[in-house]
Amino acid sequence: MKEKRSKRNFIKNIIYSLVMILFFVGIIVIFYSMLQKEIEENITRKCELNAVKSAEQIERYFTMGMDSISLTGYTLDNMLLDKRSNDDIRDYIVNQDISIADIIQDFEPSLYGYINGEFMTGDDWSASEDYEPTERPWYIKARSNMGRIVLVDPYEDASSDNVIITITRSLCDAKSVIALDMSIEKFQDAIMTMTEDGAIMMILDRNYTVLAHSDGNELAKNYINEEGTFGSSVVKGYRKSQDDTFFVSFDNRQYIAYGVRMENDWLCLSVMDATDHYRKLIRLMGLTAIVSMLFIFVMIADLIWSYERKSLIEELEIENENSIAANQAKSAFLANMSHEIRTPINAVIGMNEMILRESSEENITAYAENVKVASNTLLCLINDILDFSKIEADKLEIIPVDYDISSVINDIVNMINKRAEDKGLLLKLEIDRNIPKIYKGDEIRIKQVITNILTNAVKYTKEGSITFKMGFSDANWKNDSVVLNVSIADTGIGIKEEDIGKLFSKFDRIEEKKNRNIEGTGLGLSITKRLLELMGSELEVESTYGKGSKFFFNLKQTVVNWEPLGNYEEAFRQHLNSKSKYHEKFTAPTAEILLVDDNAMNLTVFKSLIKKTLIKTDTALSGDEGINLSKEKIYDVIFLDHMMPEKDGIETLREIRADEDNPNIATPIICLTANAISGAREEYIKEGFDDYLTKPIDPIKLEETLLKYLPGDRISENTVEEETVEESRESDSSAENKDDNLRVLENAGIDTEAGIRNSGGKENYMMVLGIFFESMDEKKKEIEDYLADNDIENYTIKVHALKSSLKIIGLSELGEEAQKLEDAGKSGDSGYIKENHDSLMNSFAGLKEPLSEVFGKKETAVDDRPTADEELMKEFYKEVSSAAENMDCDELE
Ligand code: ADP
Repeated sequence: MKEKRSKRNFIKNIIYSLVMILFFVGIIVIFYSMLQKEIEENITRKCELNAVKSAEQIERYFTMGMDSISLTGYTLDNMLLDKRSNDDIRDYIVNQDISIADIIQDFEPSLYGYINGEFMTGDDWSASEDYEPTERPWYIKARSNMGRIVLVDPYEDASSDNVIITITRSLCDAKSVIALDMSIEKFQDAIMTMTEDGAIMMILDRNYTVLAHSDGNELAKNYINEEGTFGSSVVKGYRKSQDDTFFVSFDNRQYIAYGVRMENDWLCLSVMDATDHYRKLIRLMGLTAIVSMLFIFVMIADLIWSYERKSLIEELEIENENSIAANQAKSAFLANMSHEIRTPINAVIGMNEMILRESSEENITAYAENVKVASNTLLCLINDILDFSKIEADKLEIIPVDYDISSVINDIVNMINKRAEDKGLLLKLEIDRNIPKIYKGDEIRIKQVITNILTNAVKYTKEGSITFKMGFSDANWKNDSVVLNVSIADTGIGIKEEDIGKLFSKFDRIEEKKNRNIEGTGLGLSITKRLLELMGSELEVESTYGKGSKFFFNLKQTVVNWEPLGNYEEAFRQHLNSKSKYHEKFTAPTAEILLVDDNAMNLTVFKSLIKKTLIKTDTALSGDEGINLSKEKIYDVIFLDHMMPEKDGIETLREIRADEDNPNIATPIICLTANAISGAREEYIKEGFDDYLTKPIDPIKLEETLLKYLPGDRISENTVEEETVEESRESDSSAENKDDNLRVLENAGIDTEAGIRNSGGKENYMMVLGIFFESMDEKKKEIEDYLADNDIENYTIKVHALKSSLKIIGLSELGEEAQKLEDAGKSGDSGYIKENHDSLMNSFAGLKEPLSEVFGKKETAVDDRPTADEELMKEFYKEVSSAAENMDCDELE
C-alpha cells in the first residue's frame, strides 16, 4: 500500500520535474529568441538606415541632374524655336556645363548634345572621327522617348572609359538631343562615405548590374549572371523575399539585408554580417543549456535520492509496523496465556492451601508444602515473563500513590527473611531511623525492584549474610523531596568483571552451568533496571568475584509526611518473635462482606480462607445477583471477580457506583483477578476499584486487605486461634468416624473425594449432602412440573442448578447428563429433553435410597427437647432455606 503510494509520488515528482524542465527550456528559448529578434532588429535598423540614406542621397543627385537637363532642354527648345545660331547654342552649352558642374560637381557632370546636326560638348572634349552621336545609346534612347527625360543604363564612357550614366532628352525639333553624363564612381564615393561600419552597400540597376558597391571590385558586375557569388545570393534573397528585410546565407555566414527600390527602378541594398552576433548568441545559449542541464541533473539526482531515501524510510516504517504488530501479538498472546496458565495455577494453589489447612496427615502436608513452593515459583516466573512483555510493549507505567515506607520494608523483609533463614543466611537490616515515613511514589514497583535484588542476593549466596541498607540524602524541605539510597550487599558468589556488562541483558544468565541449579530466567535484573529507569534512577553494581556483590540505586521520592520512621530493626525483630504465636491476625464477627464470583468453587475457597475470621459472607454467582444483594444492605467490603459471564466485574462495579440509591455506593470494592497481564493493575485502579487481589488468593494478602478496608470497630484480636484449629482437627477426626457413611455413598457411585474437595472439607461435605438430600423431592417436583407446563426456560434454570449441585457433591457423570439437558433447553431441543429427561430423573431418584441411609438416621425425633416458638421457627426455616438455596454452608452451620 505504502509502496504504491511512494511509486505514485515518484511518478508525480518525475512529471513535476519534466514540467519544470519544459518550463525552463521554454523560458530559455523565449529569452533567446527575443534576444535574437532584438539583435536582428538592431541590425535591420542599421541596414535600413544605410539603404534609405544612400538611396535618398543618390536620388537627390539624380533629381539635380534631371532638373538641370529639364532646364537646359527648355532653354535649348526656345533657342531652336528662335533659330539661334549653333555658336550661340554651343556657348550656352559651355556655360551651362559650368553652372551644372558647380551644382553637382561631385559627379563630374558633362553636358553635351547633338543639336542641329552638330555634336556639341560643354567641355573641351572632341570626339574621334568615327564617333557617331546618332548611334550612341543616349541619342537613341532620347529619340525613342520623345520629349521625356530618360536615363540611360550605365555604360562605358567613350571619352573617359569610366562607367557613366546619362540623363537625356530630345529637343523640340525631334532630331536634336541634349544629354548630361554623370560619373558612377562618384556614387561609389557617396556610398562609401555613408556606409556604417561593417555594412556592405550596393546600388543595382533594374537589371541587377552593380552601379555602386562598397567593394569597388564589384562594380559593373551583373548579379543575375554571376551564379554562386555573394552578390547573386543577396539578389536571390531579395527577389525571394516579399519584404524589405531579408536574410542571406553565404559561405557559412549569416547576413541581414535591407533593400530600397528607388524612383528610377534602381535598387539600393544594405547588407550586414550577423554571423558573429548569432555565434555569440549560440555560445551564450550553450552555456545556459549546460548550466540548466547541470541544474536539471542535480534536481533529478535529488529526486531519485529522495525517492530512494523515502522508500528506505517507508520500508523501515513497514518493518517497524510489522515488528510492533508482532510485538503486540506476542504481548496479547502472553496476556491470554497468562490468564490461561494462571487459572489452573490458581486452582492448584487454592486447593493446595485447603489441603494444607485441612489435612492432618504429615506426609500429605509435606507434599502440599512442596506443591506450594513449586506453584509459587511458577507464578513468579510467569509474572516475570509478563512484566517483561509489558516492558517490551512499552506499556509499563509508574503510578504514584501515597505509601508508608515501613509497610514496604515490612513486606519485603517478611518475604525475604524466610528465604534467607531457610538457606542459613543472616539478613542484616540497616535502615536509617530518620528516614521520612510517608512518600508519594509507585510503592508496588519499588517493592518489586528491591525484592528482585534481594531475591538474587539470597539465590546467589551460599553462606554469610545479606545487608539491606536504606538511607536518604538531598532532603529538600521546600520541594518536599528526598533521595532514597538503597543498597543490597551479599557475601555470595560475586560476578566477574567481564560479566558485569551482561547482567542487564534479557534472558542472559551468567555462568549458566555453575548456576544451573538456581532457578531463574535471566529477566529479573533487566526488569529491575528498566523499572528504575522509568522512575528516573539507575541500578549500579560493584562486585568481587568469589567474595560478593553490591547492587545499589538512588531514587528521588516526594515526601508526604516527614515524620521519621524510627527504629525499624527493633520493631521488626519484635514482630518476628510475636509472629510464630498466631495464624489468623484477627476476627471480625460483626463484619459483613459480599463476594461475587461466577465460579462456585472459588467462592468456597475464598470462604474457607477467611473462615476463622468469622466474617459474615454473602455470595453471588453473577454480577446481577451481586448487584441485587448490594441493594439490600450495607457491606463493609465487596470482592468482585473480574472475569464473569454476562456482566463482568467492571460492569458490575460501574452499576453499583452509578446507582445513587445503592447503600454500597461508597463501599470499598476489591477486584479479584487471575489477570496478571501488562497494565492490569493500572486498569483496575483506573476503573474505580479501591484495590485488587490476584488469584490464587494469598491468604496473608487477603487478611491484610481485609484489615486495611474493614472498619476498625469490627476488628478484634484473635484469642481463640489455637482453639479453633484444634476444633477443626477434632471435627475432621469425628468425620473419620463417618467412614461407613462415605462407603455407602461411594457404593452409590458418588465420588466423595471430589465432593469433599469441592465443599472445602468433610464436615462441609456432609452438610452439603444433607441439604441436597432434604431438597431432593422438591427439586424433582419443580423440574417435572416445569416440563409438564412446557416452561422450558425455567426447566433449564432448574436443571442448571441441579447440575451444579450434582457436580459439587461428586456426581460429575450425572452432572454431565444434566448439563446436556441444560444445553438442550438453551437451544430449544425439546426432542432431546423428552428422550433423556426420564433417565436423569430416575438416576436422581435412585440416590434417595443410599442418601436416606446416611441422613435418614437423623430423622429420629428428640421428644424431650422444648417446643420452639412458632414465629421464631418460621423465621429460622426461611433463613435455612435461603442458605440452602445459596449452598451457603457457613450460614447453614
Ligand atoms: P535470574 O533469573 O537468572 O536470576 P537476573 O536477571 O535476576 O536473572 O540475573 C541475571 C544474572 O546475574 C543471574 O543469572 C546471575 O548470574 C547474576 N546475578 C544477579 N544477582 C547476583 C548476585 N547477587 N550475585 C551474583 N550473581 C548475580
